[in-house]
Amino acid sequence: MELLKQRILAEGRVLPGDILKVDSFLNHQIDTALMNEIGSEFHRLFADEEITKILTIEASGIAIATMLGHLYDVPVVFAKKSETANSTDNKYVSQAYSFTHKQMNSVFVSKPYLNPSERVLIVDDFLADGQAVHALIDIVHQAGGKVAGIGIAVEKGQQKGGRMLREEGYRLESIAIIEEMDWETQTIRFRE
Ligand code: 5GP
Repeated sequence: MELLKQRILAEGRVLPGDILKVDSFLNHQIDTALMNEIGSEFHRLFADEEITKILTIEASGIAIATMLGHLYDVPVVFAKKSETANSTDNKYVSQAYSFTHKQMNSVFVSKPYLNPSERVLIVDDFLADGQAVHALIDIVHQAGGKVAGIGIAVEKGQQKGGRMLREEGYRLESIAIIEEMDWETQTIRFRE
């Protein structure tokens, strides 16, 4: 998927604090053709997996997840974020520290939308320290389901999330892995 890397190089802006801003095609305005390409790539990469549901987290994962759900012909569920969710009212609840908003969020999925028999493909736009993906994994496990794989559009390889998930034995596929980026020079280098 050279297309995603080219778009990142052409339109991405590196912000202080190791944040890559790609608002023109992923995080604010959405390029649906590119989302479709990313969805197709995940569909190809996980072709040998039986998938019954796609799970992501609001908001920016939803576009990619929707394309993928359509290709697999399975429902897409997105975990909702809230500062106050509790587990008393028919929800699976987990916690994730937001890398971009620097605050702790509860994230939750209503119980009827994840079942024990489920084989779940988790997808998200970015992977940094792995907080969001770990919260989604926790929710799948609370439901008694199985994580069939994890698909990430942009993995920031200089942060620990990808290494942790691979060490934990998850099948993680990232379309673009950033090796390093520098906001002062606005340079971005991808892992080969
Ligand atoms: P993590 O939970 O892995 O630390 O961070 C991943 C989540 O934070 C993603 O859901 C994504 O929304 C957000 N995120 C982390 N790093 C970046 C970044 O560099 N750029 C953007 N746009 N979002 C990021």
